[in-house]
Amino acid sequence: MDLEEPIASLAARWSAQARWTVVTGAGVSAASGVPTFRGSTAFDASLSHDQDSSDRRPSAGVAYNREAASGGRLRGATASDPPSSRDQDSSDRRPSAGVAYNREAASGGRLRGTGGLWRNSRPEELATPEAFRRDPQIVWEWYDWRRQLIAAARPNRAHEVLASWSRLQDGFTLITQNVDGLHERAGTRNVIRFHGSIWELRCLESCRGPVRQWDDARVPLPEVPRCPDCGGPARPGVVWFGEPIDPDTLRQSDRALDCDVCLVVGTSSLVYPAAGLAAVARERGAYVVEINPEPGASDVDLVIAGKAEEVLARVESLIH
Ligand SMILES: [Zn+2]
Repeated sequence: MDLEEPIASLAARWSAQARWTVVTGAGVSAASGVPTFRGSTAFDASLSHDQDSSDRRPSAGVAYNREAASGGRLRGATASDPPSSRDQDSSDRRPSAGVAYNREAASGGRLRGTGGLWRNSRPEELATPEAFRRDPQIVWEWYDWRRQLIAAARPNRAHEVLASWSRLQDGFTLITQNVDGLHERAGTRNVIRFHGSIWELRCLESCRGPVRQWDDARVPLPEVPRCPDCGGPARPGVVWFGEPIDPDTLRQSDRALDCDVCLVVGTSSLVYPAAGLAAVARERGAYVVEINPEPGASDVDLVIAGKAEEVLARVESLIH
């Protein structure tokens, strides 16, 4: 497919329209070597952010999001319910030998390296509050492995171009589903982390309230991290299956959808949560563009079927 025409069309909007909101997903980090989740079978690949698996289950998510978006505003508590309840149903049906075994192996409290027993589990069986309460150690071993991969990764051209735009355009907001922090490392301004950050921790029991989080960039983690206030286990500051999006995050995102151009990059604008965001933006009059190697036939204004880092670099070369 010839990409030059849609790329030129997008570049032409750069100077003409001021308020840009970019929604990014796993595809933006793929070229940095952050593994993406490619199915629900195993960990031959893993996911670069926690609700990425919902990207691969289009139909129900789309139907749901069209309804959710019909009011024109983002809604909080319901946002992740349909995909997550499916995930929990399926994990309930599949007992995880890895989790059961690890409860005994976990007694030492120290995290093992790359041979973790989480490899026997699917992401949907690990990225849940229930899995964490059952066995914090196996979940932390999985996160520790991911943190090591991400720490070794570098922002790619897609991150760099978006960071540059964020500094040049006052009306620029980036909403990312990724928890890897690569947008921030590239120097991006106005980042809304829709699913939190793998580099932040919080108390499992929210002993000082739900908003108290702290940074922890240690790689590797020596053991299950503890809450400095109550001494209980700390958990990753990410949104897990079955958990709602943070209300403040939703409010910020909702404001950002009052934009001229809504660019959905590295994730499908057909499926949750990008679908909900793009649908709201479009309903409010935004011009919606999807950049994705495998775009869905959706209600977007422009589709550019290419890789994030290649397309964005080309757009950038036409702009500047
Ligand atoms: Zn605590």
